[in-house]
Amino acid sequence: MSRTVYVNGAYLPEEQATVSIFDRSFLMADGVYEVTSVLDGKLIDFDGHLARLERSLNELDIPKPEAFDDLLAIHRELVARNEISDGMIYLQVSRGSAGDRDFVFPDPEVVKPTLVLFTQSKPGLAESPAAKSGIKVISIEDIRWGRRDIKTVQLLYPSMGKMMAKKAGADDAWMIEDGFVTEGTSNNAYIVKNNTIITRALSNDILHGITRAAVLRFAKEAQMDVEERSFTIDEAKAADEAFITSASTFVMPVVSIDGVTLGEGVPGRVAPRLREIYLEESRKAAI
Ligand code: PMP
Repeated sequence: MSRTVYVNGAYLPEEQATVSIFDRSFLMADGVYEVTSVLDGKLIDFDGHLARLERSLNELDIPKPEAFDDLLAIHRELVARNEISDGMIYLQVSRGSAGDRDFVFPDPEVVKPTLVLFTQSKPGLAESPAAKSGIKVISIEDIRWGRRDIKTVQLLYPSMGKMMAKKAGADDAWMIEDGFVTEGTSNNAYIVKNNTIITRALSNDILHGITRAAVLRFAKEAQMDVEERSFTIDEAKAADEAFITSASTFVMPVVSIDGVTLGEGVPGRVAPRLREIYLEESRKAAI
């Protein structure tokens, strides 16, 4: 079925939606994005994603798209037009097209940013079988640039990391810098030791996950101990449990790291409980 997508003010069938070959996201990965989950036709953590989008744009001096204040309405319109019950909405803003290739940023008064949104339907998104079995991760070196806090569309290395994981018979990769885990290819990474949840502190080294913020808040509200600090891959392999969070996987247990089985090789107590709380609270707060 052809989707209805949004491009620069217009709702179009996906076959008719186009952007210029000179668009800077195409030529230079000069763009940022957000992914918001939809459950029961409602948006999860929308305000958090919008706030991070604004921050990403500011950090890169990309002008806000004219429709910035209408983004909630646009998300809702796409959910309605595509009859999305469960799934995701992908949003991308690029610095636009100057009609040629040039390293110098175009004049923001002349060149307007490109705004694209499309839906991805994933029926039963919250009932993923992987959440019951847990996933396997491998570790790879983190060779990304130094501003991982900005959600740019430079996803080549994370994409390669995912392929390295697949080749190794695993599901995802955790990236390592100076011996410490930064994050997963498209998610934040956590371990649990003696009932304490440990995850790297926020800095330019990792994306400030919207799901991370919510999960840590819920964990603290549930009187769970949380330590925001770096951990090594060896510490992770000796942990009682591990898990990842992201907008599309929510809380996902990790049961093996580099072939080392954690605990009993099945999800432990903490990650499934956090997933349950996150889904319940997020559904309540969905808009
Ligand atoms: N880290 C990286 C590198 C990511 O790509 C993502 C997903 N976009 C996350 C963390 C998780 O962020 P969020 O919870 O906002 O989806």
